[in-house]
Parts: sequence; structure tokens; C-alpha cells
Amino acid sequence: MPTELNVGVPRKAGVAGWIRTPFGARASAIVMMMALLGTVAGVAVVSQITGQMRSEADARLDAHSVDVARALEQTMADASSDIRLARRNVTFEKALADTPGQLLPEDRAAVESAITYLGDRYQVDEICVIRASGLEAARWVGGDGVAQVADLSLDERPNNPAVIPTVPLADDAFFQTEPYVSPDSGRWVVGIATPIVLATGEHVGIVHFELPVARFETELKAMPFGSGGFNVLMDTDGRLLVHPDLARFRTAAGTPTDAATAPFPLAVSAGSPSWRDAVARMLAGGSGSVPFEDGGKTYRLSFQPVAGSNRIVGVVSPTAELYADVDRVLINLGVTAGPLLLLMILVTGWFTRRMASANSGLAGLNNRLATTNDRLEETSRASADLARESAIVNQFTELTALTEDDVSLSEATLSTLDELVRPSDASLHVSNQSQDRAVAQAKLGGRDAPVLSLHELARCPAVRRSSLYVTDDVAARLAFRCPVYPVETGTLACIPLVALGETVGAIHLHWTDRQELSLPVRLAMMRVSEHSALSIANRRLLLALRGQANTDGRTGLTNSRAFDETVQRRLGAKPQGERAAILMLDLDHFKDFNDRYGHPAGDEALRVFAQLLGTSIREQDVAARYGGEEFAVYLAGLGMTEAAEVAERVRARLESTIIPLGPGKTGRLTVSIGISVAPDDGSELVTLLRAADEALYRAKLGGRNRVVTRDARPDAATGRPGPVEAATPSRTRRRAAG
Ligand code: GH3
Ligand code: MG
Ligand code: MG
Repeated sequence: MPTELNVGVPRKAGVAGWIRTPFGARASAIVMMMALLGTVAGVAVVSQITGQMRSEADARLDAHSVDVARALEQTMADASSDIRLARRNVTFEKALADTPGQLLPEDRAAVESAITYLGDRYQVDEICVIRASGLEAARWVGGDGVAQVADLSLDERPNNPAVIPTVPLADDAFFQTEPYVSPDSGRWVVGIATPIVLATGEHVGIVHFELPVARFETELKAMPFGSGGFNVLMDTDGRLLVHPDLARFRTAAGTPTDAATAPFPLAVSAGSPSWRDAVARMLAGGSGSVPFEDGGKTYRLSFQPVAGSNRIVGVVSPTAELYADVDRVLINLGVTAGPLLLLMILVTGWFTRRMASANSGLAGLNNRLATTNDRLEETSRASADLARESAIVNQFTELTALTEDDVSLSEATLSTLDELVRPSDASLHVSNQSQDRAVAQAKLGGRDAPVLSLHELARCPAVRRSSLYVTDDVAARLAFRCPVYPVETGTLACIPLVALGETVGAIHLHWTDRQELSLPVRLAMMRVSEHSALSIANRRLLLALRGQANTDGRTGLTNSRAFDETVQRRLGAKPQGERAAILMLDLDHFKDFNDRYGHPAGDEALRVFAQLLGTSIREQDVAARYGGEEFAVYLAGLGMTEAAEVAERVRARLESTIIPLGPGKTGRLTVSIGISVAPDDGSELVTLLRAADEALYRAKLGGRNRVVTRDARPDAATGRPGPVEAATPSRTRRRAAG
């Protein structure tokens, strides 16, 4: 249930909403994003380029290792090819067919020229011809560069088994051996052999020569990759044939360090762990490249198997040299892009700070606008609430003017409060005229609202304090529960109905759900209740005043004006055929009474008679003091006979009444009564009054203390004689209403 009367104003709209958009922050964010993106893109491009450059350097290294491997392979192939050529130029066949141990003299020259060629070309250590039987037929032992043909060996000797082919080779095949220390030169060599096959197809032997391993070393040294690089040669058993630092490996392996004859060390016998990993990769087969670190430097090793042999070539390059271009690019980039990036960061920072300060200015403006906006909304809402409330209260004011009794006023009050604050249930108690009880004149909802004694009503905190009392949460432990309106939950508002300093009742409003009753709402409730209380009090005042105006002060009976008004109204409202009677009564010899007992006694006598008269008639009848000692009575619904009976009863009662007039003093009085009856004597008040007056006059004439009807003779009514003197002929009957 709403407790506040809200009238909305569009929120955060218009200029304020637009200004609130933090475009500065957005712009600086965009600049920062662009800078970041630019940096990221730059880094990506650079890393792409450098990655590419590294790949290209790696590829060059790989290509070089392929070249080196090919070169070694070519060396062997060339050697074998040359050996075959030499063989064909020389009639080894004859030599072999010749007497064992001797070459024919005519062959010697040819053989020597071939040997010279091979020896020069390959720096061979030894060339020999070996028969198929495995026995050496002839030998040339090489020297330094130029082969010296030695004397043919006379004693054929078994050759080094390592160089003997196990099977007859095909004519153009050649055979390579593992490195071995040549028995002739005493240094590491690799044996190469090619078969000697006769035209008949007979396999008569081989020609064989030894290439020194040092030759490969020379060849490899001649093909480094860059100035800082070096090449290595290893066999598939991991023996290191060529390495610039072979001595270190030999020392580490604990073997003799003589380069010519010391066994080849294993590649893993020295070097860093990452070098050993690289070796493991090389031995795992195939080709590839692998980085390693040794002696605090990093290297890249590209390896290739040498086809047709068990050797593997490795080309090593320090990465500093291999990627020198990449590093150069990076350095150049750092030199050029670094300051640029720094500049960009500075510019972005500056821009961001500028934007932030502009933003904070805008934020301040925003806040002020928002505050103003809120205030405007608040004011607008408050004035809208006020307008609505005023309209409701105005309507209520109009209603109160039209209500005729407490019930309709109470209903209007509760309807108004319902409209204003929408309670779940409510009651409005009003104290009665005689100020002994308070009755619920209106209620909302189904709750009981019993009649309360004023004492009970006074237990309501609002009545006790004569001000609004709101129990926000009735269910709260320390909440005061109004005994007049016992509820268990929600919010209860007790509102006193106070006007002109007097409590005329109380209103109780209850909401089953808790309410926050704002100050304006409380004020509105108070305004309505004050107005309601004032209306009730005013009405009571009016009724009291009206009562005073219509009452004769001395006797408490209706006065003549009110009698005329009332009777005229009653006669007008009366059905046409219905009867009604008017009595006119005049005390007999009242002047004398005054004279005898004094004026105050006369007053007392008037009161006694008025009381007697009032108690002689019914509720629906009206008795009035019509003039000094003259009275009138309206008897509703009575004809002449019944009216005469009433009149007679009054007359008789007075006659028998002893009027106390102070200590030891009493007096007596009689009354004369004239009667007229509607519709027989007329329907208008004037006519009836005149007729009754005439009857009264006749009663006086007839001797007083009697009742006279319209047609009756003065004595006819009672047959009793009047008291004493004849009445003075009545003064002119004036008055009639209107
Ligand atoms: P009659 O039987 O003919 O009616 O004689 P009367 O004396 O009653 O008639 P009259 O009209 O001559 O006198 C009326 C008297 O009533 C005169 C006046 O002093 C007295 N009177 C009128 N009003 C009051 C009053 O309020 N108090 C007192 N004490 N006397 C009053
Ligand atoms: Mg009189
Ligand atoms: Mg009189």
C-alpha cells in the first residue's frame, strides 16, 4: 500500500544525462587501447620478422651442414671413382695375373702415374692391390703429398682384415672402412676399396687405399659456417672424429692425447649437458638442428648423416653470430622504436591526465546537475503531492458542509483518509451528545469497532496526548499497543479528534503491511482529522445555539417562534385528512398571583406549570410558552375529543397542584384552555391559532379554569364554573407564523 504520493519526473534525461557520458575517459581509453594495440601489433610484427630471420639463419645453417655432408660424401665418391679410373688405366689384371709379388715392368709406369695422381689428389697414405685370396699383391706407401712407390713387396702378407671386403664387390662399387690406425703410416685413416674384375667376370682382387682422417679435418675446417663456427664429425657409435677441441675430450675420457693415434673419444665424454643432449639427438638418426650451450655461450648445431658411410657431420655456429642480423634488427628497432614508444606512452599519459581532469570537472558539474535535478524532482513531487492532497481536502471540506449528521461526516472523513493514505482498515469514534460514550460512526475494513465508554476512549495514546500517535511496527517488542484498536501487526496511526480544546472522538488507521509514514502524510492526516473534529464540534455548537434560540429561557419550553415554525412545518407535512389539535392555555388571574406572591413566585409558578404541561403530552406533541403566562400545545393526530381530554387533564392537574413558593408558602393556580382542530377549524396555523384563541377567550368569559372547544359554549366542556372574576377580554390575538 503506497504511503507516499509520488508524481514522477523523467529521470537522468536531457542535458544532464548527456553530460554524464564520460567522453573524456572514453577518448583516453581509446588512445590507450590504440597505443596498446599498436605496441602489441608492433611486437607481433617484430617477432614475426625476427622469427622469420631466425628461421632463415637456421635454414642457412642446415643448408651448410648438408653441403658439408655432401662434400665429404663427394670426397669419398670421387676417391672411389678416381680409384676405378686408375684401375682401368692400369692393367692391374696383368699385375695380378703375373707372378705373385711382382708387377710386370711395363705396368709399373702406368701404375705409378695412377698412384701419383691419387696420392696427390687425396694425400693417400697407402695404395695396395689385394688378391681375391686376401693376399697383398702389391703396395705403394705414400709420403707427404707425393706418393712414393715402394718396392713391391715380395712377401705377400695378409692384409688388415678391416680392409678386406667380405664379398666380391660389383665392378663399380666401393667400400669404406671404419677409421683405423694405418700399419704403414701409423695414423688414423679410412680405407676405400674397389674390386678388380676380369673381362671374363672373374673377381681377382681389390685395389685399396687409405685416406687419412686428418684429411677430413682439413676439409671440415675449410668449410666453417661463419667466422666463429666450426664443424664436427662423428660416427654412429658416437666417436668424435673431428672436433676443434678433441684434446679436451681425450683428456676428459682419460685416453692418450696423441692426435694421430689416440683413440677417438666419445662425443659425450666431455662438454656441457646440453651438448650431450645435442649429441643424443645426432645419434638418434636423421638430420636436424639443435641448440646447446657450452662454456657460457650458446650454439646451434645442424647435423646431417654422410650418405654411404656411418659418419655424421655437424655444423656448429654460435647463436650470437648466427642471429647477429636478428639482434641487429632488434637493436635498431629498440633504438628507433623505443623512444617512439616512450613518446607515445608519455603522450597517452598526458592526454589521459588532461582527460581525467576534464572529466573530474564534468563529474563535478554532473553532480551539481544531479543534485539540482533531484531537488527539482523532490519539489515537483512534493508540490504534486500537495496539490493532490489539497484537492482531496477541498473535496472533503465541501462534503462536510453538506453532511447533516455525525455518521455522514464520519464516513466522509474516513473516505478522504482512505483516498489519501489507503489504510487496510480504520474506524472513527465520536462521543455522543451527552458525553458518556463514543460510538464508531464509520469504519473501513471488516474489523469490529465496539461502543466505548469515554474512559475507554481516553486510553488511546492519541486521545491521552491530544496529538497524532503512530506505532510504526505494532509487532515490535516494545511497541505500544492501542487498547482502543487492538491489532497485532503492521502500522497503526491513532488520530485524536480535537476541536475547541475538546476531544470529540478518535480515528484509528491500520495498515497490515508496515508503513513509513512521511511527515507530509502525517500532516495530511492531521489536517483532515482536525477539519473533521471542527465540523463535529461546529455542528454541536450550532445545535446548541439553535436549541437556545428556540427555547424559552424561563420554562425550558419551545418559544413561540420555534412553535410557529415547527407546527407550520408539521402541518405542511401532515397528510391532508389527518387530524391535529392546537391548545391555547392562559393562566387565570396571573396578575393577581404576581401581585400577591411577588414576581419571582410568579416565575416559579410559570416553571411549575411548564413542567406539568410538558409531562402531560406525548413525545410527538409540542408544548410552547407562547407569551407571558400564555402557552400553546400542538397535539399530533388528535381530534377534538382526544384533545379535549388532554386539555382537561392539564387543567385538572394544575387545579390540584400546590405550588411551593418558599418556606411555608404555597400558591395555587388555574388555567383556561381553548382548542381548535385541523382540518375542521382550518389547515393553516394562523387559522387554527385564531380559532383556539377564540375558544380560550370564551373560556375566560365562561368563568375561567375550563376547557372550551370551537363550538362549545363556555361551560360546555367541563360544566364547571370558572373560578372568580370574569376574564378581561383577551388582548388582540396577533402572531401567527409568517
Ligand atoms: P386573566 O385571568 O384574564 O388572564 O387575568 P390575568 O391577570 O392573568 O391577565 P393579565 O393579562 O391582566 O395579566 C397578565 C399578567 O401576567 C401580567 C403580568 O405581570 C404577568 N406576567 C406576564 N409575564 C410574566 C412573567 O414572566 N413573570 C411573572 N411573574 N409575571 C408575568
Ligand atoms: Mg394572559
Ligand atoms: Mg392570564
